Amino acid sequence: MTGLEADFDKARKLYPGTKRGLVPEFENFRRKYRMKGAQFVPLMVPAIESQIAYRQACDRASMWCPEWPHFQTWINNQRWTDEMPKIKTNAKRIDKCQYCDAPATIRLDIKGARCSKPDCVNKFNGIEG
Ligand SMILES: [Zn+2]
Repeated sequence: MTGLEADFDKARKLYPGTKRGLVPEFENFRRKYRMKGAQFVPLMVPAIESQIAYRQACDRASMWCPEWPHFQTWINNQRWTDEMPKIKTNAKRIDKCQYCDAPATIRLDIKGARCSKPDCVNKFNGIEG
C-alpha cells in the first residue's frame, strides 16, 4: 500500500456514509483524478471531520440535514470542497425543557422542547394546569 493509499483509507474509514472497500473506492478515485489525486487526499480527512461536526450541530439544533451521499459520490463531486453553512444555533435551549430546564425528551420545531413531567406535558399541549 502506498502512503497515498493509506491516507485515502483513513478518510474512507472516517467517512460515516455508505462506502465500499478500500480497493474499489481507491480504484474509482484514481481513475477519476489520476495524478491530481495526490493533492486531494490530504484535504479529505479535515473535510469529513468538519462535515461530521456540522451534522452534529444540526442534530443539536434539531435542523434538517441531508444524508451522507455514498462515498463514491462524495469523491466524484469533490465534496471536500463543500463550505459548511453556519448554523444559527439555539441548541442549548432546545436540548432542555422550555418550562423546567430538565433534559428534553420531545422536540418539535414549532412548539419547542419539553421533558416528560406531567406539568410540562400539559403546558406543552396547551392545557394550563
Ligand atoms: Zn419540564
